[in-house]
Amino acid sequence: MTVNKVVIVGAGQAGYQVAASLRQEGFEGQITLLGDEPGVPYQRPPLSKAYLLGKIGTAALRFRPPEWFELQQVELVQASVTRIDPAAHCVVLASGEQVPYDHLVLATGARNRVPAIPGIDLDGVLGIRTLADAEALAPRLAAARNAVVIGAGFIGLEFAAVAAAKGVSVQVVELGTRPMARALSRPMSELFSDAHIGWGVTMNYSQTVTGILGVEGKATGVQMGDGIGLPADLVVYGIGVVPNAELAVEAGLKVANGICVDAHLMTSDPAISAIGDVVSFHSPLSAVPIRLESVQNAVDQARNVAARLMGKSVPYGALPWFWTDQGDLKLQIAGLSDGHDQTVLLGSAESRKLSVLCFRLGQLVAVESCNRPADHMAARKVLSRAPRLTAEEVEAPDFDLKAYELATRDAI
Ligand SMILES: Cc1cc2nc3c(=O)[nH]c(=O)nc-3n(C[C@H](O)[C@H](O)[C@H](O)COP(=O)(O)OP(=O)(O)OC[C@H]3O[C@@H](n4cnc5c(N)ncnc54)[C@H](O)[C@@H]3O)c2cc1C
Repeated sequence: MTVNKVVIVGAGQAGYQVAASLRQEGFEGQITLLGDEPGVPYQRPPLSKAYLLGKIGTAALRFRPPEWFELQQVELVQASVTRIDPAAHCVVLASGEQVPYDHLVLATGARNRVPAIPGIDLDGVLGIRTLADAEALAPRLAAARNAVVIGAGFIGLEFAAVAAAKGVSVQVVELGTRPMARALSRPMSELFSDAHIGWGVTMNYSQTVTGILGVEGKATGVQMGDGIGLPADLVVYGIGVVPNAELAVEAGLKVANGICVDAHLMTSDPAISAIGDVVSFHSPLSAVPIRLESVQNAVDQARNVAARLMGKSVPYGALPWFWTDQGDLKLQIAGLSDGHDQTVLLGSAESRKLSVLCFRLGQLVAVESCNRPADHMAARKVLSRAPRLTAEEVEAPDFDLKAYELATRDAI
């Protein structure tokens, strides 16, 4: 079927990118971008970093100014999609209006998982996902004295670093024994734990928050599992996300920890693609389907779908990469470290310039680089070429990842 009309649900990172990439690829048909947030699409990563630090305002968050959408003839509509009618090839908006499509792209992202604990609705308890969340948080942060962060994941720790830099007393409560454990090797995790402690953050590991205490509707503290209470006039939770896959479930599409797609990011309905945080996909780098929450994943999947709609279909196989900024530490990760059984370090934790090369069954699978951007760029290239680099080679004195990448560029 010729595709003349593409409808995109979700005007976030992936939704915006698929519209932009379609135009870049020369698509001349109609593009409708439906999003339920106000304003033009914006980047989320600075919300928990530069925006909260007060270094940038809302205008700097936008991917493009409003005029771009007119100029590119991308019809941006603020609306919530309540239903997909796959048989009729249309989506239904909250207003009841039906929007027909030739091809539908689902880019509905994810929402914060909310801790199921007493007191979660108190004033002063927030998550960070949207600009509205960050706008609500900024003035509270400015007035806060004691902040408690529930969960030592990326976003919780980015917030902890910002709050500590602003002179707020910060306590992090984490169920696991080290921070960012789901994604990071132990040595890198420990470097970040030590850094936060150095910035004055108290890290409470192997602890849960069982409830949030309040007076007159306002948070005043949290209760931990061991009975200890912590004072808090601000509580920020970051315990992971839930993919926004309900529309897909209701439409009868296959969903399992996100919308399931094939190697070309097509759902179980060939007229519907899905991309970004909401997607569970097969990566050549993983034995099981994965769902990634990163800018790289949203952007590369959007580009892949746009190219397919323009007749340039290739299986999706981009190398995953990710970054986080905390205090003066910039961490960049290339590859997937899941199940790694060996690590080799370059640099040192003491100098705060460390790369951890993660191997699984002798194969390099991921490189985590803290304040070593050259290693990260080299790692992305090396990992893209099914690397034959061994742990023994990395352990050799004076091994340099960038030099290795240059030396092996033509050999592989
Ligand atoms: C605070 C924060 C910091 C981050 N930092 C980093 C970082 O440093 N590095 C990195 O790589 N990644 C980072 N990320 C992750 C990255 O921002 C996400 O992976 C990316 O935004 C995913 O894009 P997406 O388009 O899939 O989802 P989203 O950007 O979440 O967009 C989905 C959009 O769809 C809308 N929507 C959902 N359902 C409907 C519906 N029924 N009708 C209409 N609209 C709907 C949502 O409201 C939302 O606007 C961060 C995320 C957050 C929240």
